[in-house]
Amino acid sequence: MNPSSKTTPVYIGRFAPSPTGPLHLGSLYTALASFLDARHHQGKWLVRIDDVDTPRNTPGAASLILKTLEAFGLHWDETIYYESQHINRYESALARLKALNLLYPCTCSRKHLTDYAHHHGGGDRYPGICRDKNFHEQNDYAVRIKTDNGVIEFFDRLQGEFSEHLNAVHGDFIIKRKDQLFAYQLAVVVDDQAQGVTHVVRGIDLLDSTSKQIFLQTLLGYRPPSYMHLPILVDEKGQKLSKQTYAQAVDQRNPSAVLFHLLQLLKQAPPEELINSLPQEILQWGISHWHPAPLQSWTQLCPSNGFAGLN
Ligand code: GLU
Ligand code: ZN
Repeated sequence: MNPSSKTTPVYIGRFAPSPTGPLHLGSLYTALASFLDARHHQGKWLVRIDDVDTPRNTPGAASLILKTLEAFGLHWDETIYYESQHINRYESALARLKALNLLYPCTCSRKHLTDYAHHHGGGDRYPGICRDKNFHEQNDYAVRIKTDNGVIEFFDRLQGEFSEHLNAVHGDFIIKRKDQLFAYQLAVVVDDQAQGVTHVVRGIDLLDSTSKQIFLQTLLGYRPPSYMHLPILVDEKGQKLSKQTYAQAVDQRNPSAVLFHLLQLLKQAPPEELINSLPQEILQWGISHWHPAPLQSWTQLCPSNGFAGLN
């Protein structure tokens, strides 16, 4: 046996888009960063389709996203993981958490919670109204997990030390929704574990989900991956480019120009002549020169007008 194989850390990264529409520039930015980080570390790069939130799925979006990744030369390892094919995994994680007596049914409506916050303050934090309810006495409920008084701490490769008092900030959170769908927070943790993900590279808009995910990982006996939260791309008004703000599908007519500009937005300072190279050559340059540190001071970036990837 190779003596170093035990100590050599493996790197398994992933890009996990939700198939709610075509890939837009902001998602391609995240995909590229996670790809470069994985390949720079000789790691695997997996693609997962986060399609557990079925009402938000758009027919055809998953295959459009995959085609776009390929058009930009972002080739993944292994077969695509679709969340919707692994519901049994979420069921068994839920059962394990239930056995720890940490779950309870929450029958609060959104309106009830808004009214409650209006009268008692507390903003978005769930105030624990249903904490003492029993499953067998309820129907039509969401499942919440009891948070405790511990502080969750983690180190983010770009954002640095992060600590959050989960109960004080978020309160107990939902892991299965009233419509019976598993919540993103539970699904992502189970999937990352099932896929053996060691490094998560994603947008900073998910930074405040991370402590919930580490809380769940710890309860389920999973080892938390390393995290890196990237700045997000915004429009001139400072709004995140997202499918919700109707950001357009990324323009695929000139992949080299788009990749070049995305490298600039990743603060990689590519040499000017690289813009005339083939996508594979640009990616190769990006992989060997990858150093995310210059992104440390940024939480959002606005692509300039006339950016090659915008229609
Ligand atoms: N599916 C999530 C999204 O599209 C990303 C999940 C993650 O990276 O943890 O925003
Ligand atoms: Zn409730």
